[in-house]
Amino acid sequence: MLDKTGVPTIEQIRSRFHDQATLVRPKAILECYENIPCNPCETSCPFNAIHIGEDINQKPVLDPDKCTGCGICVYSCPGLAIIVCQLINQKARFKIPYELLPIPKANEEWIAVDRSGNAIGTATIIKVDCLGKQQKTTIVTVEVPIEKLYEFITIRSPYE
Ligand code: SF4
Ligand code: SF4
Repeated sequence: MLDKTGVPTIEQIRSRFHDQATLVRPKAILECYENIPCNPCETSCPFNAIHIGEDINQKPVLDPDKCTGCGICVYSCPGLAIIVCQLINQKARFKIPYELLPIPKANEEWIAVDRSGNAIGTATIIKVDCLGKQQKTTIVTVEVPIEKLYEFITIRSPYE
């Protein structure tokens, strides 16, 4: 399915998530499904929580015990393939990369979107950080109902 549509299967998505006890604290989710020569996630992590190894074509692997959920890898990944997830108060809280305009503002309600681009409900904007060397990638902290844990991937403006 990934080859034909670019959309991972639910099994692939679940394989990248950590168990719910681990997600009490924020952890990176590496949605990097293919062997490609790339490693900014590994080199940018200040806690050595991401491992690729000598063969740069290998897929990255996260050590959740070392990951603090800081989000540096989120804006360091050129493929926008990393999010951070935490379960908090029956909500799924994510840090996601966002490179479109307008930039959301805290407390706004945006449209939650799945990996196929479909609207799946409402996403509450918690925080917006402009990070990175060129501040090209905004990191948006957003909450969705916990039922959308494996569906949610990004946001869409309700003001278009
Ligand atoms: S969220 Fe921070 S600590 Fe976790 S893997 Fe990414 S850069 Fe490393
Ligand atoms: S930086 Fe992103 S695309 Fe590159 S290996 Fe890491 S997760 Fe995959």
